[in-house]
Amino acid sequence: MNVHEYQAKEILARYGVSVPKGRVASTPEEVWTVARELGAPCVIKAQIHAGGRGKAGGIKLAQTPEEAKALAQEIIGKKLVTHQTGPTGRVVKRVLVEQQFDIEHEWYLGVALDTSASLPSVMACAEGGVEIEEVARKSPEKIMREVIDTPDGLLPFQVRRLAYGLGLPYEKGALFFPLIQGLVRGFIDCDCMLAEINPLVFTSQGELVALDAKMNFDSNALFRHPEIVALRDTDEEDQKEIQASKIGLSYIALEGNIGCMVNGAGLAMATMDIIKLCGGEPANFLDVGGGASKDKVAQAFKIVLSDQRVQGVLVNIFGGIMRCDVIAEGIVEAAREMKITVPLVVRLQGTNGELGKKLLSESNLRVISADTMAEAAEKIVKAVNQF
Ligand code: GDP
Ligand code: MG
Repeated sequence: MNVHEYQAKEILARYGVSVPKGRVASTPEEVWTVARELGAPCVIKAQIHAGGRGKAGGIKLAQTPEEAKALAQEIIGKKLVTHQTGPTGRVVKRVLVEQQFDIEHEWYLGVALDTSASLPSVMACAEGGVEIEEVARKSPEKIMREVIDTPDGLLPFQVRRLAYGLGLPYEKGALFFPLIQGLVRGFIDCDCMLAEINPLVFTSQGELVALDAKMNFDSNALFRHPEIVALRDTDEEDQKEIQASKIGLSYIALEGNIGCMVNGAGLAMATMDIIKLCGGEPANFLDVGGGASKDKVAQAFKIVLSDQRVQGVLVNIFGGIMRCDVIAEGIVEAAREMKITVPLVVRLQGTNGELGKKLLSESNLRVISADTMAEAAEKIVKAVNQF
């Protein structure tokens, strides 16, 4: 689960990370008020769950409250397209108004899970402010890593090693220590997947400040953080993912044009792979899991179909606890309420497979049936290409 920059900064500030003074606002008038309270030149920052705002025009510098208000008018309510939002962009509902700093230097500092070490790991890079993904791809050696493998977090020698590696002025060590330890403690306490400060800046006033912050939380641990759940902004999430999670199913939106309904995460992964192997691209997948009822299957199928990108659907079920006839009934029920205009390939194997196929063939639905996964994938890719 993601939160907005202003929320991440509020959390990190509680752990002793120094952040700029500021407040979130949702109207240009409110922006004017906050800018006046701050009393100095300020920054207006679009609050969306995506980075790359700077390059996309979502970060503006203002000298006066009047200018802040005018700039806020340009941002609030407008769509912002960054390299992380995809072409559809995000509508900006709020902006963060903050005191402005003169930047002497920008660094990158983050904590993420290092899945190969099965431990959290701190990453730091002297080239901050820019897209860290770009640095990671082009010159990964520039990113320093320190694995956290004690309950005390980073050890002092690790912090020193990072500080030297970043080329941090010696006298800034006293500011860097509490900041990095606060970031690490916040990451662990809040069960994060990612806690990132980019850029961490050294200002001309001699401060070390987290100018931008991003936090992502492990959804499996949210049950122990009701205060974090309360920060959730569902406007920023895929509406179909929310709809599916409400009925207890997992739906994942992807980029392609083939909708997939499967049972089980492993089968979902294998289905994605085989679609790609056949030259297709999945648009999403919906996992109906083990014990879904006919109604749930119907709702699931409607969610898959309602994705505008879907130009064909592949249903790939290996019936175990999940019965194939229930899947077939669910599809037929959904088709009664929602016209299926795209090609539909169905592969039903396992428990009540024959009965499922019979139900589908007795319905008036135009179903292309397949016996193996490879056959199903080939058929849907071909049908979508001809569609
Ligand atoms: P992102 O592009 O979404 O990651 O947004 P950031 O919050 O990282 O801001 C992008 C860039 O805007 C930073 O790297 C800075 O160069 C600039 N910026 C943000 N706040 C200030 C500020 O207070 N003063 C100055 N001079 N630049 C700022
Ligand atoms: Mg940034």
